[in-house]
Amino acid sequence: MRIFTASLATETNTFSPVPTDMNAFKAAFYAGPGEHPDTPTLCSSVVPILRRRAKAEGFVVIEGTSCWAEPAGLIQRQTYEMLRDQILAELTAAMPVDAVVLGLHGAMAAQGYDDPEGDLLSRVRDIVGPTVLVAAEFDPHSHLTALRVANLDIMATFLEFPHVDFEERGEHVVELTLRTLRGEIKPVISSFDCRMITIFPTSQEPMRSFVDRLKAMEGENGVLSISVIHGFMAGDLPDMGTRIVVLTDNDKAKGDSLAAALGRELYGLRKQAAMPMFDTEAGLDRAIAIRVAHPEMPVTIADIWDNPGGGVAGDATHILRRMMQRGLDDFAVATIWDPIAVTFCHAAGEGAVLNLRVGGKSGPEGGEPLDLRVTVQRLFHAGWQSFRNSRVTLGSTAVVRPVGTNIDIVLITSRTQTYEPDIFSNQGVDFTGKAYLLVKSTNHFHAGFVPVSSEIIYVAAPTSYPTDPATTPYRKARLDLWPRIADPLGLDA
Ligand SMILES: [Zn+2]
Repeated sequence: MRIFTASLATETNTFSPVPTDMNAFKAAFYAGPGEHPDTPTLCSSVVPILRRRAKAEGFVVIEGTSCWAEPAGLIQRQTYEMLRDQILAELTAAMPVDAVVLGLHGAMAAQGYDDPEGDLLSRVRDIVGPTVLVAAEFDPHSHLTALRVANLDIMATFLEFPHVDFEERGEHVVELTLRTLRGEIKPVISSFDCRMITIFPTSQEPMRSFVDRLKAMEGENGVLSISVIHGFMAGDLPDMGTRIVVLTDNDKAKGDSLAAALGRELYGLRKQAAMPMFDTEAGLDRAIAIRVAHPEMPVTIADIWDNPGGGVAGDATHILRRMMQRGLDDFAVATIWDPIAVTFCHAAGEGAVLNLRVGGKSGPEGGEPLDLRVTVQRLFHAGWQSFRNSRVTLGSTAVVRPVGTNIDIVLITSRTQTYEPDIFSNQGVDFTGKAYLLVKSTNHFHAGFVPVSSEIIYVAAPTSYPTDPATTPYRKARLDLWPRIADPLGLDA
């Protein structure tokens, strides 16, 4: 038994000012054949999982290239084609194979390609032919296209947002693949279009119970797998929107009806799914009140839309500026993406005091740059944070402290959202003693920060992210979706 595996992934925010090129993949994660570390990354966990299981169970795995770029704007055409053709050449050299298992994200867009994953999968199918098994793992913040479904035998997304189950779902895809190859099951894919777009954090109700029920249904009564494509509202592409995907053991009719039933149920939750958000002033009011009542742990404030994980630059200053203007002087910030400021800090050295222009350089939407007089507290050439079992690079970093305050600002050069509190401690910041923590992430930070926070406050401050699908100037996405129209499925009583 021979299985080929590889991973090509990023999430494209078609509104982002930050272009994605080969350097973006090389800077974030790039592993040639056989070079993938034993630890997984968000979208490539199938590679180390297959490597481990091949050793234990005695089959052959041929590893291709795995790569990931931090979410940003359109992928340069040559970059996408080069990475695609490299993986296809590796697959061709590996033939004959019994299965292909890919770690994808599902929200890529490249210059000239609205559906790069569909393009890749159809070319994989051309190489392997109709009978070889093709499987893929996706992020739920993705787009489901007919071209993908037509060329896949097995697919599943992470069920959790934050995506704490990415490795578990990689195991799930690998397990379904091996069972199919052993002749134990015959997966068929059903899907349902929920005709909506919003965000679905599973760290709270009503999504928590919905996902728990999906998990309980998996593996019972011929239902092999259930996934929710949440959709990705910053990807202006024809198939943007929420879908349910059900894999049954050769029972298409049952899969179709279950996907439709679950899709209608999720549609019914659409107005309650997103987390409660504050505007900046109300969010800071609440943070201050919570701090007074619970001084024992920091209050975590999430700048939810200045989230590089959603493709924006991650250099917004709006909330930081307002915190300083309101007199807060005991907090830590992770992070502001600012390669220029980090370069200046490294040139000045630890302990130096200098005038530094911080953030706000990618565009005006997230606030103007802050001009601060700072002490350079700490410098690192290869900063990093965890995300569960994976390691995420921050590039070279600098921690600066505005003079006369106890504010520590972590500046980074490799764009990433905030995942875990070690983003502070790894850069020498004692976050546990701060009154407030300001993080840049929509919800992936949640699992890591709950244990170290007295409360989590979601703040929707201005950024370049298209946060309101009802008014976003889409050009390619279909517009007959909620919240663009009130009740596209006609189910409201
Ligand atoms: Zn995601």
